[in-house]
Amino acid sequence: MSAIWTEADWDDHELVEVVHDRASGLTAIIALHSTHLGPAAGGTRFWHYADPAGAMRDALRLSRGMSFKNAMAGLPIGGGKAVVLLDKNGKKTRAMLSAFGDAVEALNGRYVTAEDVGASEADMVAIAERTAHVCGLPAAEGDAGGNPGPFTAMGIYLGIKAAVAHKLGKDAMQGVRVAVQGCGSVGGGVARLLAKDGADLVLADIDAGRAQALASETGGKAVAVEQILNTACDVFSPNALGAILNDEGIARLDCAIVAGGANNQLARREHGRLLDDRGILYAPDYVINAGGIINVSMEYISRQRGEASDINEVRKRIAQIPGRLQQIWETSDAESRPPHEVADAMAMELIGRG
Ligand code: NAD
Repeated sequence: MSAIWTEADWDDHELVEVVHDRASGLTAIIALHSTHLGPAAGGTRFWHYADPAGAMRDALRLSRGMSFKNAMAGLPIGGGKAVVLLDKNGKKTRAMLSAFGDAVEALNGRYVTAEDVGASEADMVAIAERTAHVCGLPAAEGDAGGNPGPFTAMGIYLGIKAAVAHKLGKDAMQGVRVAVQGCGSVGGGVARLLAKDGADLVLADIDAGRAQALASETGGKAVAVEQILNTACDVFSPNALGAILNDEGIARLDCAIVAGGANNQLARREHGRLLDDRGILYAPDYVINAGGIINVSMEYISRQRGEASDINEVRKRIAQIPGRLQQIWETSDAESRPPHEVADAMAMELIGRG
């Protein structure tokens, strides 16, 4: 058996805890990458992993990504992530959520959880019965919190506009062709915002009906999932899976810009360089997709302070995403370094690991 710190995705994580609760059948991994800037915050993914090593890889990679994301968003929080290993039927029970809440509570505020893939607001409400260190809870009108998807979509929309201005010199989205992979909470939100600006949308989802419905709503065109990477476009916007920017995926791209919300888009770090070699401008995923964590962390911080949260503060912080991307691209141009390398170096500096 190999030690966890010999794993390829190990990055000096502060704490990695395996939680097993016999009574409920919960098995989970909580990974805290860094608490340098504050409590480690990041959602919980509920997923069936064919191979438990895949769960550990996800926890290690996603928690590091959260450290970078939260630092680059200027939030006073560190980075962490949890994964709950579901059986092949994806069964998630109330008892498992309670046991998970107890595990979060035992960390005494070092970890703050929220929604990720496979989790709902209702799940967070169940977890909140056992711990206060949870966000993404239903929000009242005018408050921060609730479903992070629309906030993530807003940040990506603003980031795409900044990328189009930087790379193509255009200050309007009218007629700009955007290929959107994934038409869920984030991809759907991005497409709707772009449609209002007159962008020319090409949409794909493994749920073909969902892509078709979004196409009808936005005046876009739905294509098969196999076609979306090859679509000739100005912007390719990945909003479904991670690791799609691999050797094969990058070779298929026919775009000037990659800017979307999926986490961990680069299969490996060197794929950022490959994009750069092809002259494609990359918006580092953890910078452009921070809108959701900005929203839920503002909710958490306000609640901890006993203050009301302010949705305008969330909007103000999301509006800073394009400026941050611009700073990365300008440094990238000035120093002839790919944007992902510039962003990683900035993030490492911010979390005290420069
Ligand atoms: P979602 O489940 O609402 O939507 C994902 C969509 O992608 C679904 O419609 C699904 O059918 C589709 N999909 C899955 N595999 C696909 C494939 N191979 N090709 C095309 N479509 C495919 O999820 P979401 O909340 O919209 O999140 C999308 C991505 O953004 C994820 O990678 C997530 O980790 C990331 N992200 C989400 C948020 C957020 O606030 N929701 C924040 C940061 C990052």
